[in-house]
Amino acid sequence: MGASVSCAHSPAGGITFGSRIILSLLWTPDELMGKPEDKFAVRHTASFNRNPPQRTIPGNTRAPLNPELQNSIRRVEPRNGIKAIALTFDLCESATEKSGYDADIVNYLRENSVKATFFAGGKWMLSHPDKTMQLIADPLFEIGNHSWSHANFRMIDSDRMDTQILWTQAQYELLWEALLERVIAKQIDPSEMNKIPRTPLVFRFPYGACSPLALDKLKRYGLPAIQWNIVTGDPARSRSSKEIAKVILQQIRPGAIIICHANGRGYGTAASLPFFVPELRALGYDFVTVSELLTHGPAVFSKDCYELMPGDNLRYDRTIGVKPSDNR
Ligand SMILES: [Zn+2]
Repeated sequence: MGASVSCAHSPAGGITFGSRIILSLLWTPDELMGKPEDKFAVRHTASFNRNPPQRTIPGNTRAPLNPELQNSIRRVEPRNGIKAIALTFDLCESATEKSGYDADIVNYLRENSVKATFFAGGKWMLSHPDKTMQLIADPLFEIGNHSWSHANFRMIDSDRMDTQILWTQAQYELLWEALLERVIAKQIDPSEMNKIPRTPLVFRFPYGACSPLALDKLKRYGLPAIQWNIVTGDPARSRSSKEIAKVILQQIRPGAIIICHANGRGYGTAASLPFFVPELRALGYDFVTVSELLTHGPAVFSKDCYELMPGDNLRYDRTIGVKPSDNR
């Protein structure tokens, strides 16, 4: 399908993430705006939880990672003092819910041309196909893999790790293909799809929890493990928009990776954007996607995964991933 569709790199070698033509011809402005109620999570039935994607093994594979990308990446050290930073939003969805889509965040980013990376669960993509296609098609946004159903990778075995990683790669691929079909049906030049990566290029561990085996799998699957060095704490209902902005403005540095949530669990996140985006731009910072950030300099990494200090996320292992239903 689509003989001219091959890779997502421009002739200059820069990575591109979408097509303004596709985005504007497939959806009306109203459809892109979404609805406030999209933000709310819905608990769903056990039967839905066990649905795999229509394809469980991705057709496209990636080359294994080079040594400099094989650990847990916390930030980048940009060359020549370039003030590039990556704003990231997780779209987490566990086995027992349909989580939300925070339209206010996406709309602010679009209105202000802010590049960002969304780490989407494969199950989130399956339950939000149209929103996922909109994000995939948007040149501002990179879509990373955030596991299938938000498993704790310190608590699952090797087979489940494969499922969590590969089902998500496959689900993205299915939606990429569905997008191509819509492009063809709308008589848009299918070569526009060359601007959109064929698979997610980066991965984020749920709870920031990894293990040597999990890192080894990502190495083989060619997916760098992207952590963060600035934690906004936005899943806490008590965290105000101004507090989120303050943390970011105090801790910002060139090459920073900031973690927020766009699945409805970032309570003050959307309202925090006007408090820090213009200010960071005034300071000369440039918002880029994670894969672009990785081209600006060497990754600063750790052998372990944690929130801000080694060991600080071990508490999740006592409560999350203990029941089989937690991890699929
Ligand atoms: Zn998450």
